Amino acid sequence: MKKRELLDYATPHYEENEVLEIAHAIDFASKAHTGQKRKSGEPYIIHPLNVAHILVEWGMDVDTILAGVLHDTVEDTTATLEEIENLFGRDVAFLVDGVTKVSQARAGMRNLESYLPQTKDNLSKLLIAVGQDVRVIIIKLADRLHNLSTLQHMSPEKQVKIARESLDVFAPMADRLGMGRVRMQIEELAFSYLDPTEFQHLQNLMKKRLGKSTRKLGIVRHEVEEELKKHHVHFDVNGRVKSIYSLHKKLSKVDGNIDDIYDLMALRVVVENKEDCYRVLGVLHSMYQPMISRIKDYIAIPKPNGYQSLHTTVITPNKQIVEFQIRTYGMHDYAERGLAASFHYHEQKSSKDYTRKKGASASLPAQLQWITQLQEIAARLRSGDDIPQDQLNIDLFGRRIFVYSPKGDIYNLPEGALPLDFAYMVHTDIGKHAYGFRVNGSIHAFDKPLNNGDVVEVVGRKLSQPKQAWLDLVITAHARDKLRSQLKKSGTIETISGAAAIIRDKAKRKSSKKNKTTS
Ligand code: MN
Repeated sequence: MKKRELLDYATPHYEENEVLEIAHAIDFASKAHTGQKRKSGEPYIIHPLNVAHILVEWGMDVDTILAGVLHDTVEDTTATLEEIENLFGRDVAFLVDGVTKVSQARAGMRNLESYLPQTKDNLSKLLIAVGQDVRVIIIKLADRLHNLSTLQHMSPEKQVKIARESLDVFAPMADRLGMGRVRMQIEELAFSYLDPTEFQHLQNLMKKRLGKSTRKLGIVRHEVEEELKKHHVHFDVNGRVKSIYSLHKKLSKVDGNIDDIYDLMALRVVVENKEDCYRVLGVLHSMYQPMISRIKDYIAIPKPNGYQSLHTTVITPNKQIVEFQIRTYGMHDYAERGLAASFHYHEQKSSKDYTRKKGASASLPAQLQWITQLQEIAARLRSGDDIPQDQLNIDLFGRRIFVYSPKGDIYNLPEGALPLDFAYMVHTDIGKHAYGFRVNGSIHAFDKPLNNGDVVEVVGRKLSQPKQAWLDLVITAHARDKLRSQLKKSGTIETISGAAAIIRDKAKRKSSKKNKTTS
């Protein structure tokens, strides 16, 4: 990757003055990294140029591209943040600072087990950096992707360490941001280093299988295309092949029998609007026998990371089992690019919505509300608050569910969330005066977890007040915080010092309910 190459690639996508700025950043970084070499022996500047190239490919705004070019200067050279701020502005300096902090946080962690808490200071750096601007993590993902693709130059121990960390931390991060393609790229590369024998084996197995089924699938595809044309649907059909890593994961679920995997290759039908998605589903089901348990409507109920599509698996008259994925072009774009799609080239205005200003995050789509929660946690860590580790796991890396208010507003909560978590998420006052809950029309106990897709109604009474025992009936940091301060205010509990609260929390989780705490 040379300066010219990156500029040529970027030119069609950015304004003239933006391209000049990118050229300026390249000159600045090249000078700063002079004399430094990658493990491959190539000049170091190759790396930031590649990272920036990836970010252009993802369609990121110009500030992110500039920060991509500059991302290693503050950490690895004599360049300072002040210089960067003077030359490229505050936003770019902020992003470079964030990326530097994430690296420093990681450097202080010897192994993955210590990735979360323990080294609290490192973690807070990581969270503060990430929580304030999601573009920081997007730059880190591009950085990681390029490092993974040049991993052959590292020692075997380093390869395994980096690959492991990529699978455990960066792939889930990409997934949480809805960046499906990036997640897959990271997983494939990391897995190929982590278990080369298995990777090779599965790759061969896949090749053999696909040879056979591609021909048969061609016939089905043709039939479907003809039928859809009759229904005057505008569509594109393409085949999607399962990734090696997801095949590996799936095989472990079905005791290693590849015959039990129906979606080695799926047909993807992309159409113009939501209505057409359901029409296509109807056409397919009238042509072939669907497998009832495998019909998934991720359009009405998106996956927690925002993924939308209809999935169905059908059996053809020749007893061939074929999976279909049906989605609109917009859903397809989101499935591939996720959050990065929101930062598109000339829509820099929208990128600001996702960044630091408090309250701005209210405009985040439901599936990304966890970012708001991340910001809250970052703020708490900054103010010196201690947060128990298991709470962080829930909030940051836990699985998510969607629930709805009776009006149809969507809320995103961690799996296992209880009704009070929902109430406090809607509004602190709604939580405060909660008296009971109705879920999908039926009375619902305070201690019964919510499920994905539930419609939750909070029954309130003006005179109803929060109770001490509720501390056992919330699992999110947000609800716990709000509840605590309400209890304090009403004098229900004495001020519990941070440390005491944590000990109490830990004790509570370890012991059973008979050991209820009183204060
Ligand atoms: Mn780097």
